[in-house]
Amino acid sequence: MAEFIREQALDRMRIAGRQVGAGREGERAIAVFNPATGERLGSVPKATLEEVRQAFETAHAFRPRLTRSERAAILQKAAALIRERLDEVAGLITAESGLCRKDSVYEAGRVSDVLLFGANEVLRDDGQIFSCDLTPHGKKRRVYTQRAPLLGVISAITPFNHPMNQVAHKVVPSVATNNRMVLKPSEKVPFSAILFADILYQAGLPPEMLSVVTGDPREIADELITNPRVDLVTFTGGVAIGKAIAAKAGYRRIVLELGGNDPIIVMEDADLDEASTLAVQGSYKNSGQRCTAIKRLLVHEAVAGRFTELVVDKTRAWKHGDPLDPGNDMGTVIDEAAASLFEARVHEAVGQGARLLVGNQRRGAFYSPTVLDNVQPGMTVVREETFGPVSPIIRFRDIDDAIRIADGTAYGLSSAVCTNRLDYITRFVDELHVGTVNVREVPGYRLELTPFGGIKDSGLGYKEGVQEAMKSFTNLKTYSLPWP
Ligand code: NAD
Repeated sequence: MAEFIREQALDRMRIAGRQVGAGREGERAIAVFNPATGERLGSVPKATLEEVRQAFETAHAFRPRLTRSERAAILQKAAALIRERLDEVAGLITAESGLCRKDSVYEAGRVSDVLLFGANEVLRDDGQIFSCDLTPHGKKRRVYTQRAPLLGVISAITPFNHPMNQVAHKVVPSVATNNRMVLKPSEKVPFSAILFADILYQAGLPPEMLSVVTGDPREIADELITNPRVDLVTFTGGVAIGKAIAAKAGYRRIVLELGGNDPIIVMEDADLDEASTLAVQGSYKNSGQRCTAIKRLLVHEAVAGRFTELVVDKTRAWKHGDPLDPGNDMGTVIDEAAASLFEARVHEAVGQGARLLVGNQRRGAFYSPTVLDNVQPGMTVVREETFGPVSPIIRFRDIDDAIRIADGTAYGLSSAVCTNRLDYITRFVDELHVGTVNVREVPGYRLELTPFGGIKDSGLGYKEGVQEAMKSFTNLKTYSLPWP
């Protein structure tokens, strides 16, 4: 894969399509390693402030004039290229993140979906018409709405956990709305972002509409947030950084998609086979590194024993190891430091009375799927976001208790509830303080099109998903005309 990265020049930034920073070494480069093998895959340049400013200036000077039809064609072509190059795309994601082949192939499919939804949405005009003779004060006029791209540039910052799909969720709505974007991907997985930009250029995107800069956030993050050309900052990542961005951004729009601590809530009437399957899939897919991964298993005490047995059995059956083995369900987590953190949190919980039923084995960045029983809501492993394949089981007495525990963290992203009782479902939908409630599905279930995003520490309530992101990336203008 190191050779592919060199051949494709993925070790350089893309500033308005130009390859920048070739051959930068040592202090001015960030090395990227394969978490499974430790192999050095290559490096990306540390952008200078001057280069970041240049990226914003070039983007700002360009006025995209693509028609809806042209934008749709570019996005469709890019989706086709992703599908044609699926092997390379999935291989690159696996190499730089340690996600297993099943996960990276799935991610490439999602990226293609994001592009296709973008291509469809761009053809849809959501303009509204209001008649003005609605009250005695009215007139014979009509008010019309239309959307325009932002006047300034969009600055996008993405996390490591879906190396290409997180990027697609920023870039596609930007292209679909004729905006210009400067993107800074996670320094842990920069190559997938650069390949994605190349695929869009190849599909016909005017290169000024998208730049990818790489670098050390300590040097360039402030510029990415406060550069005067930036009209909107869209950030996906951890809570602490999201809040720091909110404090710094000043008078500009911000969209924040932050951490999660999502529960699956299993009521006493649940189909336990289904619930335990959802629990393990929701906890371990993508190595547990999804903002909407299941991070807490809340189960009614009447069925907790059987549910726990099933979760343990299915955890033992979850195949993990070499990310390249197509039979494996899980590869590594992002790096050894992350794996060590999970291990330490599990040890701490065990020290406080939790029971380790399976897992908590670590070798480098490999961390085995782990089930912990007798967990109390105050333990760090569930109070904080544990961004890895850990299933902590918490028992509850009744629905009031379940809702209190579920709502009892600082987060409010998504949730899963396993029950067929309409009275329960109604209460969960009304009372859980989250962005999403999925009944008999994992918290992460959604279409790439549908509104998505959290509240409380998980986000300010502005949604992503292709359709909502397109709205947030535009200015809505109204105009009125005399009655025809
Ligand atoms: P992170 O917050 O450490 O980093 C995210 C990005 O922020 C990276 O590109 C990083 O370089 C950049 N960054 C670092 N310091 C910065 C600063 N001071 N100012 C601006 N940007 C800075 O997150 P991560 O570890 O890459 O990803 C995991 C986190 O992302 C988890 O908390 C997860 O829940 C969250 N996440 C949320 C969603 C969502 O949609 N709600 C989706 C995926 C991941």
